[in-house]
Amino acid sequence: MQLVQIDMKLNLERMRAAITEWLIKEEMLGDAFFIDIDEWRARGETYGTDSLLVLVFDGSTLHTMLNLGCDTEEFDDLVESFGFWYELGHSWMGFYPIEDYDYSRLTGSYSTKLRDPRWAKKAALVKERAKESCQDCGVKQPLDAHHCYYTTMRQAYEPWEYPLSALRALCRPCHVRREQTEIRLRAFAASLTSDQLDALRPALSHATYWYETAAVFSFLSALGPEERHLQAAMQILRDARNEHD
Ligand SMILES: [Zn+2]
Ligand SMILES: [Zn+2]
Repeated sequence: MQLVQIDMKLNLERMRAAITEWLIKEEMLGDAFFIDIDEWRARGETYGTDSLLVLVFDGSTLHTMLNLGCDTEEFDDLVESFGFWYELGHSWMGFYPIEDYDYSRLTGSYSTKLRDPRWAKKAALVKERAKESCQDCGVKQPLDAHHCYYTTMRQAYEPWEYPLSALRALCRPCHVRREQTEIRLRAFAASLTSDQLDALRPALSHATYWYETAAVFSFLSALGPEERHLQAAMQILRDARNEHD
């Protein structure tokens, strides 16, 4: 296999892992699963047989998102970030390489990578989606696009190979603070088991769906041993229901 083919295959695997993680985070994975193209052809499928990889998403919320005209910008951007595009069927999609895409890994320092036009484009999109305002404090100062996490060295994603929701537009002071805050959160995570950490995410996203985020935290802080503490905590939530139709 030619080197460029190998690089492309490696990127395809990185994209597969990145999309799977994104679907888990969005609680859309459901029954969606990837099928290697050889297996797809062996099933006797007639569509998408010249693609590189297929994602079958019947029985996944992804199906609803893709077929009901919802916002697919983040998903589309993630696929493109790895140098691919997709053909959409009713309950499957096939991935194809973008013509002339450079799949080679960049060598050199992290700051060199941040000068790549692919990062510039991604960072600009993050700021645009934040309406050019800091997502922590709201000021319209010069903004940075901050990575809220990095994958392991082994996975080695390039800076632009992250979903938009992994990035946050922040003004300089908020950016400096954020780096520290995230380290403190990880330090706190050391006190929890992986099962507890896994339970924390859906629990918080469930609670903040129904109640204002700040109120959910106030509620937890207001808990105490006596009935009056419980009553006060409940009242905080009663006053902070989110509207959903
Ligand atoms: Zn700020
Ligand atoms: Zn940062």
